[in-house]
This record gives sequence, C-alpha cells and structure tokens, in this order.
Amino acid sequence: MTRGTITLLQLYPRDMNIYGDWGNTLVLKRRLEWHGYGVNLVAYNPGDEFPKEVDLIVGGGGQDSGQSKIGDDLLGIGDRLKTLADQGVPMLMICGLYQQFGHYFKTKDGEEIKGIGLLDIVTVGGHERLIGNIVTENDKFGSIVGYENHSGLTTLGANATPLGTVMRGAGNNNQDRTEGARYNNVIGTYLHGSLLPKNPAIADWLIEQAVIRKYGEFHPAVIDDHFASLARDTAARRPR
Ligand code: GLN
Repeated sequence: MTRGTITLLQLYPRDMNIYGDWGNTLVLKRRLEWHGYGVNLVAYNPGDEFPKEVDLIVGGGGQDSGQSKIGDDLLGIGDRLKTLADQGVPMLMICGLYQQFGHYFKTKDGEEIKGIGLLDIVTVGGHERLIGNIVTENDKFGSIVGYENHSGLTTLGANATPLGTVMRGAGNNNQDRTEGARYNNVIGTYLHGSLLPKNPAIADWLIEQAVIRKYGEFHPAVIDDHFASLARDTAARRPR
C-alpha cells in the first residue's frame, strides 16, 4: 500500500539529457518509493500532449543544437509551466533547460534561442568552456556538490535568487560567484553529475514540496545516505 502517487514529468529526455542528468529522475523515483509513494513517470518530448496532472518536473542539459531543436516546443508550453510554478509545483532544471527557463540564450554562434522567462536570467555563450567539479553553499541545503560543463554565461535579474555561492568552480558566469537561480519551488542550476545522487537534501526537498502540495503533509522515511556522503566527499576533493 502506498501513501499516494506522484506524477514525475521529465521534459525532453530525448534531446536534453546529458552528463548523467537521467540520474536525477532515477533518484527522485527511488526516493519517492522509499518514502512510501508510487511514481507515475511521464516523458514529454516535442509534439507530445502535456499531461493534465503533474506534481514534480525535471529537465536536463543539452548541446546548443539540442536546445535549438526543442526551443519552439518549449515556448508552446511556457505559459503552462509558469502557471504550475506559480502554483508551487517543484521543478529542477539543469544547465541547458535552466538557460531556457530564462529570457534567452544567445549561443556563441550568434543564434538567439528564446526562453520562457520563468526565471529572471539571461545567458550569452562565451568562448571558454567552464568544465569541472564544483562546490557551492546554500543556507538550506549546505554544500551542493556537482559537475559543470557549459560555455553559456548567465546573469541574474532582480527577480531571481541565486541557488548557491560558488566555493570552487565557475557557476553562473565565472565572475560574481553566484550559481543557479530559484523562483518559488523552481530550482535552476548548472550542476550535472548527476546532481541529486550526491545531493539527497535537494531531492528530498523537491519531494517534500510535491507531496505537501498534493497530500497536505509529508512524513519522510529515514534513508541511509552513507554512500551519497562518500560520493559527495570524493567529488568535492577532486581537482577540476
Ligand atoms: N549548450 C549550453 C552551454 O554550453 C548548455 C550545456 C549543458 O547543458 N551542459 O552553455
């Protein structure tokens, strides 16, 4: 007997799913099950019908070409996603989709890929690729450990709050030590790795928001995160 069922939607798994981002979906699914919930996993690719009910949304990174390919379709579901974000639906967007949740991504080849403007950020492709392990700090989640690989440089507007402060690595733009952005229960970040296996506190926070929104209360199970801790420590110590 489960305590309920959470619909987990993955955006564009065909084109936007690199450097292990699929691991985020697997972690959310498995931890939801450990916390006692059934999971209805739904994939959304260009041209699909957007599901009527959705409790938690994830999206991954992509090459500039993949971003361009899904760009128009994403604009088509932008209002829907913005409404869901305003209603408190938790979302996790990594790298490429993080950029496209902002106002625009101008690639280094001069193409402007319009974003949905859910996050108050803009991104411009740089000439250097920012690659390597990264550690940031966040008041709620503590250290966030991941791996970045992007050339886009992101600047936050007044309505976006950074997710973390960069302790090691480049982050949003290699200048102001911000990393990622938050709006309501939406998290955008450059961190692959994948992010959630090494940062279970973020996974459980996303799950908590989804469950409370749907069922009014959340009673987490005790999960042994011993291996996640080892993975975090090892990744945090690795050279870039
Ligand atoms: N193509 C984008 C960039 O290079 C996003 C990369 C990614 O998703 N890893 O900035």
